[in-house]
Amino acid sequence: MSQHHSVTVDDVKAAQARLAGVVHQTPVLTSRMVNDRTQNEVFFKCENFQRTGAFKFRGAYNALVQLSEIQKQQGVITFSSGNHAQAIALAGKLLQIPTTIVMPDDAPEVKQQATRSYGAEVILYNRHETDREELAKTLASDRHLTLIPPYDHPHVIAGQGTTALELIQEVGQLDYLLVCCGGGGLISGCAIATKALLPTCKVIGVEPELADDATRSFHSKTLQTVTNPPTIADGVRTPSLGKLTFPLVLNYVDDMVTVSETAIINSMFFLWERLKIVVEPTGALAAAALLSNVLSVKNAKIGVIISGGNVDLAKVAKFIQ
Ligand SMILES: *Cc1c(COP(=O)(O)O)cnc(C)c1O
Repeated sequence: MSQHHSVTVDDVKAAQARLAGVVHQTPVLTSRMVNDRTQNEVFFKCENFQRTGAFKFRGAYNALVQLSEIQKQQGVITFSSGNHAQAIALAGKLLQIPTTIVMPDDAPEVKQQATRSYGAEVILYNRHETDREELAKTLASDRHLTLIPPYDHPHVIAGQGTTALELIQEVGQLDYLLVCCGGGGLISGCAIATKALLPTCKVIGVEPELADDATRSFHSKTLQTVTNPPTIADGVRTPSLGKLTFPLVLNYVDDMVTVSETAIINSMFFLWERLKIVVEPTGALAAAALLSNVLSVKNAKIGVIISGGNVDLAKVAKFIQ
């Protein structure tokens, strides 16, 4: 079996059945103003309203619920300072699986506390001295914990794909689907579902210019990396696509584009002001490609995934000028 068949639309459909009644079916918002301005019909799939504030809960729950009884008793571990940490912590709480999260010691106190409030054990490390993946692997083997990585895992990818499945079930035909891309779990799952249900729909990945590793990987067909990119979109600061997600992106995604930091910030404020929804910078990434005309099409039906809403308002206030 070749690697790009590692996750199929049937896996995404099976994930949807497992997640029924557990995840929120998030709203799809439309705006006449956006439609007029872009001359398209645009559907925003609002995962900022998902449990824990981002789509990550879909993949986390789909992975944890499929563990064996012994794995569930022993517990899971992951490395993340952001939305995957909270998603794993909540999924573990709901399924009564002990969770351990490895986080940098400079992760915002609110994020540490949100993660602990779901009952997770948080282990802090110094990001200048310690490799988080190595630390998580060592802890996993010492403590017999199952490691659930944030994107490069078939059950995580299938879970994230339910975002697009739900959108398509609600709105039907689309000509384009815009999805932000970090490690590629979300876009892989969404592209698999979209290509199966709507073969003519073009799936476009969106990255910050400052973190364009996946775009370069897509065009060169060779895995490219980026180290600690200084983008405001902290959800996509991952160094590269993964072993599973890279071939999936090559196989199912139609194109990858990048947007400037200014376009991301403008998109975020536009969504706050016009759609009245709180979106984090990474959550505004896909919309930025449309609103800044990087994707310049007209008279099309366009799905846009708003991936999350966990924003540190004090930090973002700095960008208002
Ligand atoms: C994790 C995350 C992403 C990136 O998802 P990948 O699966 O790593 O590509 C985008 N937006 C938000 C809000 C996230 O939490």
